[in-house]
Amino acid sequence: MTENPHDQLVLSLFRECDALLQGHFKLTSGKHSEWYFEKIRLIEKPSALEKIVDLLVEKIEAEVPDFDTVVSPAYGAIAIGFLAALKLGKKFAFTQRADEKMTVRSGFAGLDGSRAVIVEDILTTGGSIQEVLACLKEHGVTTSGIYVLVDRSGGAVPVEGKAVGSLLALKVEAFEPDVCPFCKKGLPITKPGASDKRA
Ligand SMILES: [Zn+2]
Repeated sequence: MTENPHDQLVLSLFRECDALLQGHFKLTSGKHSEWYFEKIRLIEKPSALEKIVDLLVEKIEAEVPDFDTVVSPAYGAIAIGFLAALKLGKKFAFTQRADEKMTVRSGFAGLDGSRAVIVEDILTTGGSIQEVLACLKEHGVTTSGIYVLVDRSGGAVPVEGKAVGSLLALKVEAFEPDVCPFCKKGLPITKPGASDKRA
């Protein structure tokens, strides 16, 4: 998929926590894919996640010199954002959907008017990041950076004109069953646990 040594390191870390599976998978869409990303595995093994977050922290430190708070959307990204905030020496807050609308979890103090970096686990369409941006805007928060562990959009689709930094850009091709190359090879198919409904 990629020969870049940094990408290889990131891939091996995702494999270490069993978050990235290679094989022949039936996705919830009904399409077939060679890759499956099981994001719940990321937070299941904190020591493996820590190595991944270290790389993300390095990137944020190099690219965003000054900000106040790491903000992550609930729930999957909370552990990731919290760990990043701890290592960056910043505050942490999370957003959650209340009546379908993304809001800052009530009780977080000092967020209004501050500068934030958004940390999310996986970028697919950018929908939830867009919601977090809108919600931070309402609080007068300046978004100084947006970071995801895995960009599945195929590479750097800006969200509202802001670049999204990722540790790994992974273009996942999905095939209709009748044209699936893995079916043609006769590889047995797996239907993974539906923990990642967006797969
Ligand atoms: Zn197939």
